[in-house]
Amino acid sequence: MPKVNVAHPLTERAWSMMKRRLLSLLETLRIQLDSELLEAAIMRRKMATEEFVVTHCAVLGNIGPVMPSPADYAEFPVLQDLLDPALEQDPSRERLLQEQLLSTFQQSLVLWRDSLAIRIFDSVFPNEIDMALNDKMCKLNLATTFFNCSRRFCAGLLKDMRYPTVLGHSCLTGGNPCTPWSEESIVLDPVVGDLLANILRSCCMDPTVTTHDELVECDPRVFVTSFLSSSVLSSFVVIFLFPLLFFF
Ligand SMILES: [Zn+2]
Repeated sequence: MPKVNVAHPLTERAWSMMKRRLLSLLETLRIQLDSELLEAAIMRRKMATEEFVVTHCAVLGNIGPVMPSPADYAEFPVLQDLLDPALEQDPSRERLLQEQLLSTFQQSLVLWRDSLAIRIFDSVFPNEIDMALNDKMCKLNLATTFFNCSRRFCAGLLKDMRYPTVLGHSCLTGGNPCTPWSEESIVLDPVVGDLLANILRSCCMDPTVTTHDELVECDPRVFVTSFLSSSVLSSFVVIFLFPLLFFF
């Protein structure tokens, strides 16, 4: 039998030799365990906060086309506070923060959505980054400002890529709690933009100032009959007009 399998009393000399390494090992394990417990607590806080947002904040009304995922909570100060693992032992502070969230959420959401809009603008109009914020928002709201998604699996899919609907496009929201909203895949769609400009001109509307809302006020079926000869009509009808026809 090998000597290592034979039990011997722990001597002072053996203990002094292993003590330092044993304490170091225990310390490492303790740090690792603390880290895992903290990670689990953070995950629980994320799930609890997300559930609160979905069940209480999302029903406040007028929430727009996009909601923050837990990966976006850092841009909402109160949501960030609600992720504090210490709240698990402090339910009264958690309730206080939840009340604070309910009273500020809609305003914070509008500010966040505006910041996303500016990110899209700066991404697709890199030469106009210095433009005033109001002017950027006006340009985003133009009827001729139409976007597309550069993701390969998105090509050919029916999608409404006007502002502000584009903010909720699934490639931007990421579709999971760990992925923050990103404008990376958004590009301008000059084909649809030019077509819309031609349609507006044919209706005696100025493409440089007409907003999407003003275009929607017109009956889109009139535009369809005006452009039956257009080679890109089919894509236009599919992308832009076809969904609208259901509302008229
Ligand atoms: Zn996409």
